[in-house]
Amino acid sequence: MPSLAEYPQIAAGKVRQLHAVDDDHLLLVASDRISAFDHVLESAIPDKGRVLTAMSVFWFELLADVVPNHLVSFDDPRIPDEVRGRALLVRRLSMEPVECVARGYLTGSGLVDYNRTGAVCGVELPAGLVESSTLPEPIFTPATKAEIGAHDENVSFEAVVKEVGQEKAERLRELTLKVYTRAAEHARSRGVILADTKFEFGTDANGELVLGDEVLTPDSSRFWPADEYEPGRVQRSFDKQYVREWLTSPASGWDRASDTPPPALPADVVEATRERYVRAYEMLTGRSMADWPTPA
Ligand code: ATP
Ligand code: MG
Repeated sequence: MPSLAEYPQIAAGKVRQLHAVDDDHLLLVASDRISAFDHVLESAIPDKGRVLTAMSVFWFELLADVVPNHLVSFDDPRIPDEVRGRALLVRRLSMEPVECVARGYLTGSGLVDYNRTGAVCGVELPAGLVESSTLPEPIFTPATKAEIGAHDENVSFEAVVKEVGQEKAERLRELTLKVYTRAAEHARSRGVILADTKFEFGTDANGELVLGDEVLTPDSSRFWPADEYEPGRVQRSFDKQYVREWLTSPASGWDRASDTPPPALPADVVEATRERYVRAYEMLTGRSMADWPTPA
């Protein structure tokens, strides 16, 4: 059995690590770390890495007839026991330098741009939209990868064309909207609104665009409970609700405006959050986390 230390680490994000298995394969390892209000918290959420990994696999399978993806295996012997269940063996791709975001609803940085300019990433929208409004149709709102610690920056379609060329930019937009639409349909049938999501595509050895990274997880998407949807207000977050509420409550003693890091989470907040990740997975997929591999 290989150990993780045998695979050179080639990147480390806020909550995930990337290791090289060989020239053609990488290991994408999801940790149990969680971020809130732009801080990575010192408390981890047990099983979060497993849940996000299981969710990605579900979506890769569901979307396989819409777009090819980089997934090779989640239970291959090349995956070390210590990260089993929260690591994916994937094909190494040459990643496109664009965060491919699709939005079906107006919130977050999309709403900020709209309020300032009436458009998001240069896509003109009708007047009178409010927080969480349903858009007339899903839109492609690309962003550029920010340096560590900074926010991704929304850019126009023209900026993507400059970066990757007209043909590839059009293909990225088309694929992003197609995958979003198909995933949103599925989520809706399970009582969940997929408000927006971010994909990363890469090009494989044959020059084909392939869906990479993690997909349609709570870390890359906004999922809202459909039965509580109400435009005009910020929607309840499926996953981080308890964390955010506790951090901003007097109980935490934390001042969000200060530059001090947030305190550790109490055990009951950790457990409630863990349960919500598991429930989100089971609700979206109809599968049970009990059937998903666990680390040795
Ligand atoms: P963060 O999202 O935490 O701000 P990040 O995006 O740089 O930082 P992660 O998301 O944690 O880091 O790491 C995943 C990295 O792996 C990304 O840079 C992504 O582009 C890259 N990646 C994903 N799939 C593949 C693949 N098949 N081949 C090569 N690189 C990949
Ligand atoms: Mg990332």
